[in-house]
Amino acid sequence: MKLNLNIVPLSSWLNTGKEPLIISGPCSAETEEQLLATAHLLAATGKVSVLRAGIWKPRTRPGEFEGIGSIGLEWLKRAKEETGLPTAVEVATAKHVEEALAAGVDILWVGARSTANPFTVQEIADALKGVDIPVLVKNPINPDLALWIGALERINNAGITKIGAIHRGFSSYEKTSFRNEPMWDLAIQLKAIAPELPMINDPSHICGNRELIPYIAQKALDLDMQGLMIESHIDPSVAWTDAKQQLTPAALAELADKLTLRKADS
Ligand code: PEP
Ligand code: MN
Repeated sequence: MKLNLNIVPLSSWLNTGKEPLIISGPCSAETEEQLLATAHLLAATGKVSVLRAGIWKPRTRPGEFEGIGSIGLEWLKRAKEETGLPTAVEVATAKHVEEALAAGVDILWVGARSTANPFTVQEIADALKGVDIPVLVKNPINPDLALWIGALERINNAGITKIGAIHRGFSSYEKTSFRNEPMWDLAIQLKAIAPELPMINDPSHICGNRELIPYIAQKALDLDMQGLMIESHIDPSVAWTDAKQQLTPAALAELADKLTLRKADS
């Protein structure tokens, strides 16, 4: 089986000259100071191509920090003006899409909980009709390749040709060292049926802790994935979300230095 996606190559919309492609930034935008300070340090590493930040956070249970909301889009705009880094946010509703587009966000991504819900994906896709913006689709939280493919197809059918997949691991009943099991075979299957689809690995949400991130990031590159999305925070110990897995910008730079790209087959 081959997946018939109408897509343009990653190099035509995100040609940063940096390999591997690294998207980084906080799990959540918390304050303007936190976002700007993190963005400046990330830009100074010279290793990061895109600044990410969650503005609307999909929390599993209510009562926790649910994202700073629309004001965070203004902080992102300022971070981009000051650092030159293009920005990326998660969108989960048509309203998120409209607000992110109005605020000049460069790249949108669909989160794992949204990918698991075809109604949500279709709502996002409908809001994207006639819009030319890159969209990255995370795998669904559950290990269901068809849902991931279906979400990519819905976004692509809406006319989005700058499209990529993000492998962030899958929830499993059995608890292991990982927060979300990588289940590499599912990502490999998707690569096999859609070889032209850029695939970005998210070791932060796979690992759930800082210590394992280098191993997962390297393995993703060894499997020929095109990029990494890694959460970073000016001071991870006080992060409002995902504190255990975020890296300081300095640690991110150190990791980026150690990663090796897969050698071309001879
Ligand atoms: C995130 O990127 O912060 C996030 C909520 O990720 P996921 O959708 O992979 O859980
Ligand atoms: Mn997170």
